[in-house]
Amino acid sequence: MSKYSYVSIERLQKGVKVTGPVVPAGAPGYDGAMRTYKHVLIDADNTILNFAVCEKRILEDIAREFGFMPRTRDDEDLTTAYRRINTALWEALERGEIAAADLKIERFRQLSEVLDYTAISRPVAPEVLNQQFIARLSTCGEVVPTARAVLAAIAPVVVITNGFAEVQRSRFAASGLNEFISDLFISAEIGANKPDPAFFTHVLSHLGNPDPSECLVIGDSLTSDIAGGNAAGIDTVWFDRSEMIGEPAPATADTHPATYRITRLVELKRIVLGE
Ligand SMILES: [Mg+2]
Repeated sequence: MSKYSYVSIERLQKGVKVTGPVVPAGAPGYDGAMRTYKHVLIDADNTILNFAVCEKRILEDIAREFGFMPRTRDDEDLTTAYRRINTALWEALERGEIAAADLKIERFRQLSEVLDYTAISRPVAPEVLNQQFIARLSTCGEVVPTARAVLAAIAPVVVITNGFAEVQRSRFAASGLNEFISDLFISAEIGANKPDPAFFTHVLSHLGNPDPSECLVIGDSLTSDIAGGNAAGIDTVWFDRSEMIGEPAPATADTHPATYRITRLVELKRIVLGE
């Protein structure tokens, strides 16, 4: 028997009347009954985990230790070059054109072609660079500012992430966010990546096949989070970080229209809690 009372709640935004236990959001036993959406499916990297910060710090550490410059032979910033290469490969992976295991090495093979080693250092194999990168990333639990406060308000959430299982699990363990997360779905474990419908089918089936109207997908990627949510018939929130990171909004915003667009993570509270 719950220690909390039971009431009916008009869900104004969805027009659905729900009876359920009233448990303060984030408290043990809270099942999302006060929320506009019952199942909140949230992306990890650059939505709640600060992948960008981890990535830059790790690449610069590796450069120092292995003796290459923070700028490439083409005078491009090391992190910028890595992101350009890595993003293109992840988009190829989302389209099913490259396997995850090959992507790991291929990104460092392409990067190696433009690395500027000092006179006294020797080029390092892409496999070694990747191994170093993955090992360090696994312990980097840096979170997006406000992520903790927002998740505490809207918990529990389900995490949906494209990534490598061992890396993502240990990053979440280091992040301090696990207490707000009821399920962690990782593409490498599922065998399908967002936006592949097989990824979303797997997640929804594990949640007991809820009606898509009870679900919400949140993420920073139009091509994986928003495209995948749209295809599954789920309302979507695009976390548009372009203003924050000083980059133009992606051209694909029209191709993959989201139900909501937010520029700060805290705006998610209003959507999920109906405030
Ligand atoms: Mg992301």
